[in-house]
Amino acid sequence: MQEKKGIAILGSTGSIGTQALEVLAAYPEYFDLQVLTAGKNADLLIEQALKFQPNTVVITDESQYQKVKDALWAADIHVYAGQEALCQVVESNEVHTVLTALVGYAGLKPTIHAIEAGKTIALANKETLVVAGELITQLAKEKGVNIYPVDSEHSAIFQCLVGEFHNPIEKIYLTASGGPFRGYSLEQLKSVTLEQALKHPNWSMGAKITIDSASLMNKGLEVIEAKWLFGLEPEQIDVIVHPQSIVHSLVQFEDGSLKAQMGLPDMKLPIQFALTYPSRFRTDFPRFNFMDYPQLTFEQPDRSVFKNLDLAYQAMTAKGTAACVLNAANEEAVAAFLAKRISFLEIGQLNSDVLNGTELVLNPQYEDYVHADQNARVKVAALL
Ligand code: NDP
Ligand code: MG
Repeated sequence: MQEKKGIAILGSTGSIGTQALEVLAAYPEYFDLQVLTAGKNADLLIEQALKFQPNTVVITDESQYQKVKDALWAADIHVYAGQEALCQVVESNEVHTVLTALVGYAGLKPTIHAIEAGKTIALANKETLVVAGELITQLAKEKGVNIYPVDSEHSAIFQCLVGEFHNPIEKIYLTASGGPFRGYSLEQLKSVTLEQALKHPNWSMGAKITIDSASLMNKGLEVIEAKWLFGLEPEQIDVIVHPQSIVHSLVQFEDGSLKAQMGLPDMKLPIQFALTYPSRFRTDFPRFNFMDYPQLTFEQPDRSVFKNLDLAYQAMTAKGTAACVLNAANEEAVAAFLAKRISFLEIGQLNSDVLNGTELVLNPQYEDYVHADQNARVKVAALL
């Protein structure tokens, strides 16, 4: 029998994490769940651990350690707490693949540790590549580690490239739903509420990425993610709005041929493909019906209104710590918007002020990213 694949899920209590557990539960003979981690949600982590019986769990919120420890004592599951513990548990010999499903900059350090330990990465945490794409891709190359995308657009590109790895990409098109405010004018955006921004038309996701989708920052982050995953230049990456979210992205080859990957919007599919590549496992997910979608439409994003997209291109072109600065500003600005401290349009304004008001470090080392991240957060705090 084939050996089971040991899996660590960082961020198992989140939107991607819980869907990943559904995927793993469907193939118990193939996957061996080793590690689960949560930020604050101790109750769900305990429930997941009792159900899936991993070897180890981490709760990064240290104040909840005792609660988790007590609940899992009889189940003989190792319990650790704190941010540093994430870096250690990914190095276990039993772990083959690390699914990075935590949100934000917090994903960077554990991912570096996982790559250094030679683990395959199933990457949902796009912020890791946005912040330090150069460092991560270089390290992965040195260690011979594969990074498989979980983000649906990047999974689509990856699926289009299967069998084509020797053929250069001319260009890619990342599709964007346009979010809840597609077609809005700047004037209309001035008064949108948090509740409206949290209502994504096609996807149910964590709060941070839902706001990023509404502001098109998510697509900006994905442009940078694509640059590093597929080794592309900024002018090879284009964004096209496709409100139905059926075409998940496209690759254009040098003969002019376009390949797209399509399907109903369901993150379980890209999560599963990242874990089973190069195989495709049979699923009972609902199948696409053409009659439900008689029209698939495409339009240009309105860059004069959704300015985050151009900021992402600006940061990508500027290189060095630019995207790290933009990411940190955006994480802080989105947190402030979620706390109802600023308006929706102020997110983009803060991003622009911090990116344009920061001196960049070219050819950064790890510590430069850490400083750039911290400085950008301090700048946002001062501007609030
Ligand atoms: P969620 O907010 O739903 O989940 C985030 C997870 O990370 C939770 O388990 C949370 O724990 C944990 N977490 C949060 N902060 C920290 C921290 N500082 N340290 C350790 N753990 C932490 O996010 P999503 O699942 O929506 O997104 C996860 C990643 O995947 C993001 O990078 C996102 O951009 C990407 N992604 C998500 C998609 C989606 O459909 N949701 C689609 C494509 C990409 P707890 O809840 O216990 O506090
Ligand atoms: Mg995406």
